[in-house]
Amino acid sequence: VPAPPARLEAVGVTVRFGGLVALNKVDLRIPPGSMVGLVGPNGAGKSTLFAVLSGLLRPNEGRVLMGGGDVTRATPQARARRGLSRTFQRPELFSGLTVREHLVLGDRVRHSGDRIWRDLLTGGGFRRPSKEEDERVDRLLEALHLGGLQHREAAGLSLGAGRLVEVARALAVEPEVLLLDEPSSGLDMRETEELAATLRRVVEERGLSLLLVEHDVDLVLGMCDTVNVLDFGAMIRSGTPEEIRSDPAVRAAYLGE
Ligand code: ADP
Ligand code: MG
Repeated sequence: VPAPPARLEAVGVTVRFGGLVALNKVDLRIPPGSMVGLVGPNGAGKSTLFAVLSGLLRPNEGRVLMGGGDVTRATPQARARRGLSRTFQRPELFSGLTVREHLVLGDRVRHSGDRIWRDLLTGGGFRRPSKEEDERVDRLLEALHLGGLQHREAAGLSLGAGRLVEVARALAVEPEVLLLDEPSSGLDMRETEELAATLRRVVEERGLSLLLVEHDVDLVLGMCDTVNVLDFGAMIRSGTPEEIRSDPAVRAAYLGE
């Protein structure tokens, strides 16, 4: 039996910036229901691969597939409609809107498409949520234990809480695959552990696929099924956390041993 197509996949992706080869024939698979990690030293090409996968950057060579279908030339918006959602390294939250309203906006991306931006930008302001919207948002607030913060203005939150809201908003879009760019950056150990536990839970409950791009290797090794290691634009290893932990090439490249 052939393996089911990956939710999201990079095949032979090469990206050059002038003379610099930032990614060299890189492969990466995110199968359904799996948590996949991407680690590597500074400058290895992690953010470049993230940009290629999310559609912000067109590779010089190679392809990006979703569910086996070619999306190499699809815009980020088109990929979002096919079930891809992402967070940003710095939470990009709207001041003046509450946590709850942010989740309603995420929900509208999925259920009402681009109309939400017209509503917001044409002075219509924030349209009152429907009963269905409220119910979906209630479920999400509960799943992420954010009920206590729902009426707070998002802009006034701590970095840790803001990042949870950012994840919650990405989940409100009901993605099939979620890309997280350095979700632990700026968080303390306790906040990082909370975020990790939340991500594990939503992946299990929603059958979601997740790509975690992180400089925190321990976090990735502790929570992912498969870990990919980039070094100088080349994917030097993909394997289970156990395989990665004991791999001499990885230790040499990444841990400086
Ligand atoms: P990482 O996220 O793993 O730290 P990046 O993907 O940001 O690595 O960068 C990979 C390499 O590509 C680095 O050498 C970086 O300086 C270079 N690079 C990244 N973006 C650009 C760009 N827009 N223009 C030129 N060089 C870039
Ligand atoms: Mg980076």
